[in-house]
Amino acid sequence: MDFTFNEEQKMVIDGARRFAREKLAPFIAELDEKAEVNLKALKELGKLGYLGMTLPEDFDGSNAGAIAYAASMIEFSKVDAGTAVAVSVQNSLVNDAILTFGTEAQKKEFLPRLASGEWIGCFTLTEANSGSDPGSLRTSAIRDGEHFVLSGTKNFTTNGGIADMMIVFAQTCKEKGAKGISAFLVRTDVPGFKVGKHENKMGIRSSSTTEMVFENCRVPASALLGEENKGLKVALTTLDGGRIGIAAQAVGIAEGALDEAVRYAKERVQFGRPISELEGLQFMLADMATEVEIARTMLFRVAWMKESHSQKFTKEAAMIKLYASEMAHRVCHKALQVHGGYGFMKEYKIERLYRDQRITEIYEGTSEIQRCVIARSLLGE
Ligand SMILES: Cc1cc2nc3c(=O)[nH]c(=O)nc-3n(C[C@H](O)[C@H](O)[C@H](O)COP(=O)(O)OP(=O)(O)OC[C@H]3O[C@@H](n4cnc5c(N)ncnc54)[C@H](O)[C@@H]3O)c2cc1C
Repeated sequence: MDFTFNEEQKMVIDGARRFAREKLAPFIAELDEKAEVNLKALKELGKLGYLGMTLPEDFDGSNAGAIAYAASMIEFSKVDAGTAVAVSVQNSLVNDAILTFGTEAQKKEFLPRLASGEWIGCFTLTEANSGSDPGSLRTSAIRDGEHFVLSGTKNFTTNGGIADMMIVFAQTCKEKGAKGISAFLVRTDVPGFKVGKHENKMGIRSSSTTEMVFENCRVPASALLGEENKGLKVALTTLDGGRIGIAAQAVGIAEGALDEAVRYAKERVQFGRPISELEGLQFMLADMATEVEIARTMLFRVAWMKESHSQKFTKEAAMIKLYASEMAHRVCHKALQVHGGYGFMKEYKIERLYRDQRITEIYEGTSEIQRCVIARSLLGE
């Protein structure tokens, strides 16, 4: 068992840390305030290989692997969790789905453009009345000869407002319910599609979250990703990998919060000495650091499971997504407490980290859904 990063991984992770410091940190406070995406940084990340981290070189991927990807996600999330989730969606939800389920022609058309950042992708499954229960989605895809006609509205789509292509889930056989859903690869310039409402969010405000509206939108049958009526499998398999990205996002936010708490505790003087000398605060910091370390260790183990293709990791991905996101909640809560009243003010980074953390317990399956996945696996269902 080896717990060290190899030289290649170290280079990739150092590059991510440098990028976060130089290209994300100077802009995040303003982008958070204005709810704007750092598209320039995202495009640059593509050129540097961070948008095709788990893709083979045949498709212009950087082939850095799931471990380096998770570690890079930590570095981006510490500084700008909004840009980090855009990176996560591109790598885990879009690229991985196409690599696993796409035809050779689809891989050749989409993957090099996604890996380089020429195209930004999104994964649009959720609808107003279909969140935790994706099998109940209502967007329809009706076959018309060699085409499908898509109608319906998706919501809460990350990267929606900046996407060049999307993976859309729609019902191709209403009678079959959850077994009648298919996945499609669709360009966002296709007639009949438009971006709907842009959400005004509590956190990760430097990410785009929108509705996606389909009005008699015709796509060729060759746009099917995977088999017809097997779309739920595409979604659920892809989300297993996605949860590693979100767990890494949570670990990054928690690490960022811990760093802020340690720094502040050393600077702030009360009762004539730095508050870091108070045992009550030292215990809080010690608990935070211990929880972060536990999550990091399990995160890299699950990333290793994915990278080595050694076994199915559905249960473990749910476990680390659940643990890391709830751990980040506890850590951000304590880190803000260490800051006292100043932590409640926008001038302090912890205020944003506290808001950014909250989504990690909700998207790509809420904590309750992760518990359902883990329990199902334990009970052999
Ligand atoms: C900022 C943001 C970005 C997002 N990005 C994307 C994206 O890119 N693509 C996409 O498709 N979706 C995206 N989503 C949607 C996200 O995945 C869903 O919001 C999430 O899965 C929960 O669905 P819901 O909001 O409809 O809540 P609901 O499913 O209505 O859940 C409400 C409550 O009921 C609980 N609950 C539901 N079912 C069960 C159960 N069986 N057992 C116990 N408790 C249960 C939930 O845990 C929750 O507490 C995003 C959401 C947000 C807020």
